Amino acid sequence: MNKFLEQAEYKYRVGMADYVTRPSISIMEFLDGLKLLFESVFRLDMFKSHRAHVQSYFKDPINCELLEWPVLFLGGAPDGVPALYSLMDHASVVLGTWYPEGGMHAIPAAMANLAEELGVDIQLNVEVEKIEVGSNGLAKGVKVKRGKKGSVGASTTLDADVIVGTGDMNWIEQQLLEPKYRRYTEQYWDKRVMSPGSLLYYIGVSKKLPNLKHHNLFFDESLDDHCVEIYDDPAWPKAPLFYACVPSLTDENTAPKGHENLFLLVPLAAGLEDTDKEREKCYNMVMDRLEKRIGEDVRGSVVYKRAWAHREFEDEYHSYKGNAYGLANTLFQTAFFKPSMKSVVPNLHFAGQLTSPGPGVPPSIISGHITADVVDNCSYLRVNGKKTVPKFLYGLFAAIADIFAMTAIEMVAGLDFVSALTFTVSNFLFILFAFVAYMRKLAGFAKKDD
Ligand SMILES: Cc1cc2nc3c(=O)[nH]c(=O)nc-3n(C[C@H](O)[C@H](O)[C@H](O)COP(=O)(O)OP(=O)(O)OC[C@H]3O[C@@H](n4cnc5c(N)ncnc54)[C@H](O)[C@@H]3O)c2cc1C
Repeated sequence: MNKFLEQAEYKYRVGMADYVTRPSISIMEFLDGLKLLFESVFRLDMFKSHRAHVQSYFKDPINCELLEWPVLFLGGAPDGVPALYSLMDHASVVLGTWYPEGGMHAIPAAMANLAEELGVDIQLNVEVEKIEVGSNGLAKGVKVKRGKKGSVGASTTLDADVIVGTGDMNWIEQQLLEPKYRRYTEQYWDKRVMSPGSLLYYIGVSKKLPNLKHHNLFFDESLDDHCVEIYDDPAWPKAPLFYACVPSLTDENTAPKGHENLFLLVPLAAGLEDTDKEREKCYNMVMDRLEKRIGEDVRGSVVYKRAWAHREFEDEYHSYKGNAYGLANTLFQTAFFKPSMKSVVPNLHFAGQLTSPGPGVPPSIISGHITADVVDNCSYLRVNGKKTVPKFLYGLFAAIADIFAMTAIEMVAGLDFVSALTFTVSNFLFILFAFVAYMRKLAGFAKKDD
């Protein structure tokens, strides 16, 4: 175990300190490519499956399943996810599991407080209906509707210099942008391997459940069979693995006195037909096992019960195929192979779980950070500020190298030739525009724009 955790720590340190913070938009980010290739093959285990990796350290089937089960949430069966992700075992086993006082909601609430202190105007219950793009090809604002979901209200436009789309990237690209400004095609999205969806139950129980812990993982059925129903042959599971959480055992504010707050999570294939009948069947299946395990009835004391699955993920978050955790973390959906955080529209960017570095709370927060840096440092496109000729030539070289490299990468990732070519041509035109603007600036023609 110690040896297994040592290599997991190395991956965690390298992954979190370096690779996870790369935007994956420019091939120049990987000028240290040989070091990366060496590390990826020999130390980060990018080309080895998580299952093969675990089995090279452990023989006992229970130990193997214990270490394999968490990758289910990364969007792959253990034999399809790179062994890089054993870094999660360092996070959970060594760094430990932490509970934010007030629950998960306390984290965004604290971030919102800080943002407001810094002068950010946060507007809630506002649905973005369209991204408006001007005749110069730059985004100029967003059309929004205020009010709770489903309410009838007038739409207004908010002007913007730069837009960062942090909702579901498929929805923003395919629904909020006119077709000519979409970087990816419907077929491209359809070929993406999604992480699982989730059937969630939020339950209030009018008694205490001392035989459960805060976190309870039920992998008392076959992990492989459940993986087949999620990835290979999507279907409602016959004997699902599941997670049961009782936060009221740690935080008494999450349930009335003498009650318990119970949360159930069953991973499901994305894109399943989501019916009340299947939900209820699944609920009874997992409750049968939970009650048997703790040796007491729970269903008889349920005073609150709310289900949440694909329909709610689609209605509330516009989640592509009702997914819960974004794209699966397969090798060909990693780094450059992910949907790019840069749009065809130069001042529109993306952040969040469908782009780099990927799904999960920490990566999504890091994604926002990276995008903010990209917006600040669009070096070869920006014509304002102090620039020198060598710097510009380097930028131009980087831009051209990027166009070829990124187009090839996007074709490997599944974008068709015409779309990849269209993107290449539009990039060329944009660089030409930047080049002309820059030359005008150098020649002193554009001084009044400074
Ligand atoms: C049940 C569950 C358990 C999870 N457990 C873990 C875990 O243990 N650890 C972990 O790291 N990760 C976990 N995750 C994953 C993690 O929650 C996500 O990867 C992360 O929250 C994604 O963040 P995001 O900012 O990309 O998207 P979101 O958090 O979905 O935020 C996007 C927001 O944009 C809004 N939006 C979308 N479209 C529009 C529009 N047109 N106009 C206005 N607003 C819009 C949505 O309503 C949403 O509020 C879990 C996810 C689920 C569902």
